[in-house]
Amino acid sequence: MTLTERIRESYSRAAREEPTQPMAEPQNFMRVPDPTPKRTLYTDAMEIFHRAADTIGLAPRVRLELEEPDYEHIFYVTAKLKDRLRPLSPEAARSFGDLPVTQVRDPNGLERLADGQILLNGKALLGSDVAIRRGHLRLPDGGVYQLIPGESQRFKAYRVQHNQARGPYKGGIRYHREVSLDLFKALAAEMTWKTAISEVPFGGGKGGIQIDPRQYGREEIEAITLRFMYKLKRLIGPNIDIPAPDVGTNGEIMALMMRQYLDGERERHVGRAIVTGKDVRIGGSEGRVKATGRGVVYCIEDYYTDRGESLKGKTFTVQGFGNVGSYAAEIMAALGGRLLAVNDADGTIFNPDGIDVPALLAHVQDPKNLKRSVLGFPGAQKIEKQDFWEVPAEILIPAALGGEITGEIAEKLKCKLIAEGANGPTTPEADRVLLKRGIDLIPDIIANAGGVTVSYYEWIQNKRMESWTEAEVNAKLEHALKRNYRIIRDISRNTPRRTEMHDSRPFCVGKQVEPRLAAMILALKRIEAHYIIEGFSQ
Ligand code: NAD
Repeated sequence: MTLTERIRESYSRAAREEPTQPMAEPQNFMRVPDPTPKRTLYTDAMEIFHRAADTIGLAPRVRLELEEPDYEHIFYVTAKLKDRLRPLSPEAARSFGDLPVTQVRDPNGLERLADGQILLNGKALLGSDVAIRRGHLRLPDGGVYQLIPGESQRFKAYRVQHNQARGPYKGGIRYHREVSLDLFKALAAEMTWKTAISEVPFGGGKGGIQIDPRQYGREEIEAITLRFMYKLKRLIGPNIDIPAPDVGTNGEIMALMMRQYLDGERERHVGRAIVTGKDVRIGGSEGRVKATGRGVVYCIEDYYTDRGESLKGKTFTVQGFGNVGSYAAEIMAALGGRLLAVNDADGTIFNPDGIDVPALLAHVQDPKNLKRSVLGFPGAQKIEKQDFWEVPAEILIPAALGGEITGEIAEKLKCKLIAEGANGPTTPEADRVLLKRGIDLIPDIIANAGGVTVSYYEWIQNKRMESWTEAEVNAKLEHALKRNYRIIRDISRNTPRRTEMHDSRPFCVGKQVEPRLAAMILALKRIEAHYIIEGFSQ
């Protein structure tokens, strides 16, 4: 019997044995899952979009254009890692009691990581008297380390390009362990709203790598970043999509990305606008490093100006003491605010008499503070994270990650105002609790728009080969943010008016709405205008 005959025979036998059971069609195994929409971080983030779209009666086709991104790119980046030394526990080290110390000739080749591992850069051990036993050696610090040979590793990378109706895609690059397509979709959409709100001629994008950057050394991060840009290059450009720093990345990473993008280009110098957030010495803008934190403070200041008050003596707490949180705290303190507590990824500190912000900044930026954590700061006591939320202070500035203020936490808060430095720190459920409890909110898409606004200034300066002073940049930023924040407040209170600084008449919707909805209404009206006036390309 041939193979074909055997298969036919087995089919007809099966049909005889189970006449009532139809054979599974091969395509059944490939059936697309039920399209019932699942609740995800992205759908949660888009809840406010749909409410604003309903409120203004957004044109149905514009809604379709905006409710999913233009492009979702997922790709992979490989890099060769360095050899590293992993510390043994004191018990495990006991069996190496008589292992002599390895005198390292070039200690600069050893790079200590935040998790205690040590990376061997360059030829760190070359020329040293290395005493190695079963793959272990002892360093002059007395510790015994296991030598782990460096291998190649693969990382998952993303770039979501949400919308470009108003200009090139624009948004940060995040290096973090907990990233996903869903998260980047939400963050890219946020950028579309934010660029519209701050009136910069960009759309929205976001991306990054699934990686915990603190587990990798300088040279490894460099190799991973260069490879990332090597793959990203075909998708972006100074007039197409312009990345910037976000969580886990900074000006140094932007410099690497720029170099990789421009390597070998004949007109390198005109392409500097490929990334923003660069060091000022290589085309960055004065004021960019502090711009997001500064913008948060401009909004808070305007909130109090509107009430006839100043920041002097106002107490505040900050979650996240990285780029946004630390500079927001520094500028708040300079204007007379009093910082009572800080929570970061490693812990929480509290001082009811006020934390000395410049001293805390020096503590975090000390090269010996490998985790860049606020923990260990001598001018405050350590408290638990759950107690952080209950510190009574006028203002809370969340400036860490998204989703931190849940409904449960919102019930406990003892602040009067939340100014969202982070992207999406408050869940929709928490929003409802805050409304019910009468806690005011300055929504992220205006509060933290300072970064992208000065990124735009950097982009213009690069294109025009100009360099503006910090005072110029800050003055423009202050005007842009306060003007648009005032429009949002007017939409929220339904007080259409025209002043010297702003005109909210085209945006008010005939009834009062909460601030987050007001901000989204402003964004959607500005984006919709492009589709309505320009029409759709076919
Ligand atoms: P960063 O990497 O400089 O700092 C992040 C800070 O958050 C660190 O202090 C870290 O310890 C802390 N953190 C991380 N996980 C935490 C956790 N689970 N609990 C408490 N603290 C935690 O990042 P950044 O640039 O300051 O960004 C902070 C937020 O602001 C992010 O949501 C980012 O998307 C948003 N944002 C940044 C910019 C910018 O220009 N950097 C612009 C707009 C919005």
